[in-house]
Amino acid sequence: MSHNNEGHCGSCAHFGDGIPSEQLVQIRINSQDSGVVGGCDHPENSSHHLMVSPISSCDRYTPAEAA
Ligand code: SF4
Repeated sequence: MSHNNEGHCGSCAHFGDGIPSEQLVQIRINSQDSGVVGGCDHPENSSHHLMVSPISSCDRYTPAEAA
């Protein structure tokens, strides 16, 4: 089982809008793309209702604190 690589949405502090917290913890542990998509709450993205997968990425990546 691999872990999220630095820079991927699954380990970004802005990822997970709309995903239950327990499921979000699992996504942060396991980087596999399970078909789940979540909202990005970064101020520059939220107004666009951007939905991303755990293996997506962008230049605004901010590491989430270790769970
Ligand atoms: S789109 Fe960018 S800011 Fe949003 S969750 Fe992904 S890496 Fe983070």
